[in-house]
Amino acid sequence: MTKVYEKSPAFFDTFERKPSMKKTTHYCPGCGHGTLNKIIADQIAELGLQDQAIFVGPVGCGVFIYYYFESACVSAAHGRASAVATAVSRANPDGVTISYQGDGDLAAIGTSNAIHAANRGENMIVFFVNNNIYGMTGGQLAPTTLIDQTSVTSPTGRSVLNDGYPLKMAEMMAGLEAPTLVARVGVNNPRNIRQAVKVIRKGLEIQRDKKGYAFIEVLSQCPTNWKKDPKDACDWIDDVVCKEYPIGVLKDMADERDAQERECKRVEFDAIAEQLGLTGTEEDSSQQIEMIHDELRFKFAGFGGQGILSLGLMMAQMSMERNMEVTWLPSYGPEMRGGVANCSVVVSKEPVGSPAVDIPNVLVALNRPSLDKFGPLVDEGGVVIYNSSLIDQVPEGLKAKVYALPASELASETGNVKAANVVVLGFVARKTGLFELSELEAFLAETFKKPALLDINLKAVMAGWDKAE
Ligand code: SF4
Repeated sequence: MTKVYEKSPAFFDTFERKPSMKKTTHYCPGCGHGTLNKIIADQIAELGLQDQAIFVGPVGCGVFIYYYFESACVSAAHGRASAVATAVSRANPDGVTISYQGDGDLAAIGTSNAIHAANRGENMIVFFVNNNIYGMTGGQLAPTTLIDQTSVTSPTGRSVLNDGYPLKMAEMMAGLEAPTLVARVGVNNPRNIRQAVKVIRKGLEIQRDKKGYAFIEVLSQCPTNWKKDPKDACDWIDDVVCKEYPIGVLKDMADERDAQERECKRVEFDAIAEQLGLTGTEEDSSQQIEMIHDELRFKFAGFGGQGILSLGLMMAQMSMERNMEVTWLPSYGPEMRGGVANCSVVVSKEPVGSPAVDIPNVLVALNRPSLDKFGPLVDEGGVVIYNSSLIDQVPEGLKAKVYALPASELASETGNVKAANVVVLGFVARKTGLFELSELEAFLAETFKKPALLDINLKAVMAGWDKAE
């Protein structure tokens, strides 16, 4: 048994999110998430479920669970963890599916996903972290916020007439026929933690035994957004929160339920193709592209608005038409507002293992922050192409072969500086051996229907092509 002060063997040894955070978590001091993570990890380890466990992570303060648990992990879009967990559970009947969700994620945007997964009695355990507030986004009112509790969006306190009553998810789930276990626990004091350990263990045993759906609501302190010190936050759960959300087991059918197995139908690709009338479209590998590497792992990066994502998409689409295996992964985020925007594109002769490109072998950098950030990642044998119209300084010590391409300048000469991405397309296509000029022209003719626009883009692609000679 792992001692309370020891790191659980079900955790990674170090948390690699940031070099400065290797030993700690991203949770705020005194946050209940850390305690809950530790209980889950200990019980997974003790039950020997680490190799079977598949976590589905939420959007919210629990978003980084994949940095902590040394098990399989999938991230879901906001509120969709229970839906994703349904797919994970059905596709991996031998796995132990664990959905980890907060109150904004599960009880607001994801309510319907959560309730229907429960109502189907899916083989999964759902941890519902109820801290009465939206934590990660800064303390907005959540469905679980208490009456009169203040938040940044209810500065005078929650009002029933305005916001309705606090949503009691555990009671709702317990009212359904299908769930096997429904309970509410707390992680705010030793007594509650001891009880939580027992309930969580039972929920995991139910998963091990394939006995259906378990829902565990966890009352968890959020000192940061409650504006309390950690001790006061823990006390507040006992003194106030538990009055609205009583701790206890609301439903336990574990002894009455049998193991349940859903048939996982694996449909063969040929059968799907036949249903869609796509037979006779066998891949002609002779149509595949000859490339400088068997797998090109592109990173396209620049400012938002420079057509970075479209450039990656064009490259991916053209490659796909040549029977290559392709992925395109855009990076949306705060970077889009004036910083570095990027997308990852993988073009390969074999099925692509991961669409994420951490170490590109071709970097296209259209602004200096992109070159500074990604240039050093490209290894010897790789290629770095940068927009020399906007970048006047190249970082020292780049290992890859570096090409300066005055993309913006060349695009201006064709009549529109916005066509810089198409200049790059022509240059990259020739340098990597991806496409012939005639193929680029045919693709642009398909893409740009207005003659004036097509004309500019044809000139732009030609400018890039010529420069790559
Ligand atoms: S904001 Fe609240 S819930 Fe989120 S990590 Fe900090 S204390 Fe925990």
